[in-house]
Parts: sequence; structure tokens; C-alpha cells
Amino acid sequence: MTAPHIEVDDLIISYGPVAAVGPVSFKVMPGQQLTLLGPSGCGKTTTLRALAGLEQPSSGRIRVGGETMYSGADGIDIPAEKRGLSMVFQSYAIWPHMTVFENVAYGLRVRKRPAAEITERVHAALDLVQMSRFAGRAASALSGGQQQRVALARACAFSPTVLLFDEPLSNLDAKLRGDMRIELRELQHRLGVTSVYVTHDLEEALAMSDQVVVMRAGHIEQAAPPDEIYNRPRTSFVADFVGSSNLVEGRLRPDLSADGLIALDVAEDTVIYATSYGRSVKDDVTLSVRTVHLRVTTHRPASIRNVWAVTVRRAVFLGDMTQLHVIWAGREIVVRCTALDGIAAGIEAWLSVDPAHCVVLEA
Ligand code: ATP
Repeated sequence: MTAPHIEVDDLIISYGPVAAVGPVSFKVMPGQQLTLLGPSGCGKTTTLRALAGLEQPSSGRIRVGGETMYSGADGIDIPAEKRGLSMVFQSYAIWPHMTVFENVAYGLRVRKRPAAEITERVHAALDLVQMSRFAGRAASALSGGQQQRVALARACAFSPTVLLFDEPLSNLDAKLRGDMRIELRELQHRLGVTSVYVTHDLEEALAMSDQVVVMRAGHIEQAAPPDEIYNRPRTSFVADFVGSSNLVEGRLRPDLSADGLIALDVAEDTVIYATSYGRSVKDDVTLSVRTVHLRVTTHRPASIRNVWAVTVRRAVFLGDMTQLHVIWAGREIVVRCTALDGIAAGIEAWLSVDPAHCVVLEA
């Protein structure tokens, strides 16, 4: 079995008496990208900086490539420059008065590498981000996206064993961010370099990662591959933070549960069938039902479970999709759909959802 490239165990980072992070534990396999995702202040950057050696933890352990970089118990704390990691920041921190070449060469010069090696490494790194033709240009005469590529080339020039990214795309406009996301993911695959990426942008996390760690107030709420984070959120926080969800509370009906599904009373005369995915089910259950997994149709669907007559209260056009607000079991449920097929505010319609998409959250 392959050993993890990065192992973080029970890491706690405190500022004064208050623990900002932890304890957190996670692993990154060689060549994989793990993303720390969460709202502002949840401790993503602090965790990343501790990995880099820029923040001193108060306890726990960090191992990279089998070597201990930090261990509270053993009094080990390897300095940042000896960890073999490279970091790309949100503010690209490139020097505007230098050429693109010199920006990328800077760290190699500081490390007193021979001139021929510097030239070779800089060109290889610029090739990687398709910026070779700009080598002689002043960095100030580049667009934001190009500057971020230079910062990336600089980080890659050392051939680091691990790349750390702190919201590297957040200063770019939405369109460019979308393009760079794909580019970065391809680059990460091409280099096969293990990466840890920090973002508060859900799409970025889902699009770029092998593993997503959702953080909240210094703790890990869920760590899983992107599709699992999206389709099987563990807690209401994850369900809510990762895309739009309806949270539905119900009471267990063991007498109706069948075919591996659990049945819940959500109101008088309204039963919903859901999937527990191996999670323990108490008497009172909260479900996550994604807005995009619900269907509203004018004809009654053929399925026997999870079909209800509803009234459409509002239809809000959002461009790529339309958001419907329907009255179901005495409450308002939000549905997002791309095709309306005759659905409009005020009409009676059918609401349906596959029980596999009604996910039991942990108590
Ligand atoms: P953002 O997305 O806004 O950067 P984040 O998830 O990266 O947020 P951190 O920057 O890691 O969050 O901060 C985690 C917590 O630690 C926050 O409550 C923050 O206020 C606190 N914190 C960060 N740096 C310091 C510091 N130098 N001194 C005291 N508290 C700090």
C-alpha cells in the first residue's frame, strides 16, 4: 500500500490562549490535491501556513515524505526553507520592476544555484505555464492572470515535492478564474506534485481536488472526495455550505421503512423516503435534499415513492436555471431546474425526488 505523502495528526494551532485550529488530522496521497474549504476565519490559511513552517503549532505532528517536519511531543520544528515545499499566495507577490525571467529566477539565485542551472530551470518552469515568450518582459506589463502564472512558475522552479496554494485565484475575475482552475488542475496532474490548496470557493474546491476537507471554526466537518462531499454531506453545515440544499426534519417511521430506505414523517399525511448511507438513524432525523435533485412536473411521475402534489409559489429566473419555491408539507421547498416545461407561479404540480438523494445527516 502506498504511504501518504503528507500526514497531519492532531494538529493544534493557538494564538494566545485561544485555539484557532484543531485538533485536525488529514492525509494527502502522493500526487493528489487536497483542498481545505470553508468560510472566512475557519482556519484554512493557518493550517496551510503551519504545513509550510510559517506558523508554529502548539501540538500535534506534521510529516512530509515520511519525515517529521513538526512534532510537539518530540520538540521537532524544521524551518520553512528546509521543508522542500513551495507556496503560491493570493497576492502573487511578484516584483513589478523585474523581468518575468528574473522573478522566476529570484529564489534560485538566493539559493546560489549555478547560472546554467538557473537558466534551464526558469525556462522549464515558464514553459510549464506557457509564459516562455514573456521571459524578457517587465512583470508590471502583464495581466493579472499572467502574473499569477509567473508566481506559479516561480513556485515550480525549485521542483518542490509539495505545492501549497493559498487562494491563488481569488484576485482574478470570474471568467479567468474558471480558466485558470482547469489549467492549474492540468498542471498539477502533469507535474504529479502533491498539493494542498486553500479556498472558500466551492466550485474551485470541487473542480480541482481529489479530496476536499470542509472546515468550520477550526475543525474538520467532513473530509471526502468532491462527489461525496456534494452528494453525501455529513452535517447540515456541509450541506448548506457546499451548494444549495433543503434541510428537512422528520420523525422516523420504522413501520414504513423498507427496501433499505428509511421512512420519515415530515407532516401529517406526508412521508419522505431517504437513504442513511450507513449513518446511525435516531428518532428525529434531518435530511439534506439538494435543490437540483428535486423535480417539479405537470404530469405525475411513475415512481411510487417521494411524489407529492404541490403548489408552485414563485419562479425566479436566474439565467442558467430557474429557482422554484413550492409549498410542500406546510413549508417552502426550493427547487432548481433548467427546463420549466409549463411550470409557472400559481400552478398545481408534482414534486418528486429519488430517495437516494434524500441524505440522512449525522445527528
Ligand atoms: P480567510 O478565508 O478569511 O483567510 P481562514 O479560514 O484562512 O480565513 P485563518 O486566517 O486561518 O482563517 O484564521 C483562523 C482564525 O485564527 C481566525 O479566527 C483568525 O482571526 C485567527 N488568527 C489568524 N491569524 C492570527 C494571528 N496572527 N493572531 C491572532 N489570531 C489570528
